[in-house]
Amino acid sequence: MSHRSREIQLVARPQGEPRSSDFGLVEVDVPDPGPAEVLVRNRWISVDPYMRGRMNDVRSYVPPFNLDAPLDGGAVGEVVESHADAVPVGALVLHNLGWRELATVSADAVRVLNTEQAPEEAYLGVLGMPGLTAWVGLLTVAGLRNGDTVFVSGAAGAVGSLVGQIARLRGHRVIGSAGSPEKVAFLREQLGFDVAFDYHDGDVAALLRAAAPKGIDVYFDNVGGEHLEAALSALRPHGRVAMCGAISQYNATEPVPGPRNMTQVIGKRLTIRGFIVSDHGDQLGPFVSEVGGWLRDGRIHHHQTVVDGLENAPAAFIGLLQGQNTGKMLVRLA
Ligand code: NDP
Repeated sequence: MSHRSREIQLVARPQGEPRSSDFGLVEVDVPDPGPAEVLVRNRWISVDPYMRGRMNDVRSYVPPFNLDAPLDGGAVGEVVESHADAVPVGALVLHNLGWRELATVSADAVRVLNTEQAPEEAYLGVLGMPGLTAWVGLLTVAGLRNGDTVFVSGAAGAVGSLVGQIARLRGHRVIGSAGSPEKVAFLREQLGFDVAFDYHDGDVAALLRAAAPKGIDVYFDNVGGEHLEAALSALRPHGRVAMCGAISQYNATEPVPGPRNMTQVIGKRLTIRGFIVSDHGDQLGPFVSEVGGWLRDGRIHHHQTVVDGLENAPAAFIGLLQGQNTGKMLVRLA
């Protein structure tokens, strides 16, 4: 037997900004699960900036999406049929076959979720990949030290909002940039950032200088471009940059110019280090232990922007790249 399901396929590779015509909503038959497989009905799917890179036909650390095939990515769903004892019917699971209603998944490729610790969708955000990214970038990659002042760009997004809060909860001074006055107010009033600015309000270097007249020690880069150049100028000697993302460049159709002030890296003995969260699975335990504890105690704020309906997943993704989200952008199915 098989089951009717709907999925979002990539039907054209975006040129520059993705458009809704790059995506198609397609009805398909999903086969019954085989031995050691489960059938999952997705309840939440994640849209993430890295997916933009996978829409281009280029080699990267993850293979490109195929045309006329479903997209994939993080999802949380309920097991509705199971041929695996460890993953019973009714279990809520995290897996990687998002962008569709029903998925047949190997039981080895799902993680059964503890929904007493946190709501199920938190495993796509604060307790999931974005949370671990914030944790690893700040602690392992940037090597956060006592007394560091931290600057994070994309500060009102999924990763950035957690970077700022983790740093603050560990006693650091935190500065953030984001794309609207509402987001700036959110950073200051709800997340407890010491200083926040809207990067549209002028030259980023000047805005950062005003926000951090004594300089910064750590820059968590979600944005690249002008932000990275500004941060290199603001960093104090022995400062560190965790290069997490460069979202200002993801839709670029031509190579973009690099920061013009790279020689400052020498004189100030700066360290710039890129990272990919999937290399740091060993940090999941300590991360869940500390951030899960803050979550239980209500000390960490996890905000999300929810778009309803699989058919609106492309709009959610396009909106994410345009800054329509505060916190984690999620699509809720049914
Ligand atoms: P966000 O929730 O931060 O959403 C993306 C945000 O980027 C938007 O809300 C928008 O906010 C901002 N943005 C869009 N265009 C620009 C621009 N031109 N300049 C400045 N900001 C812009 O996404 P995530 O938290 O999921 O991801 C944040 C970054 O982390 C991304 O670069 C992503 O690729 C990276 N990442 C890297 C990982 C790794 O392993 N290295 C893992 C996960 C994420 P605004 O309104 O403020 O402009």
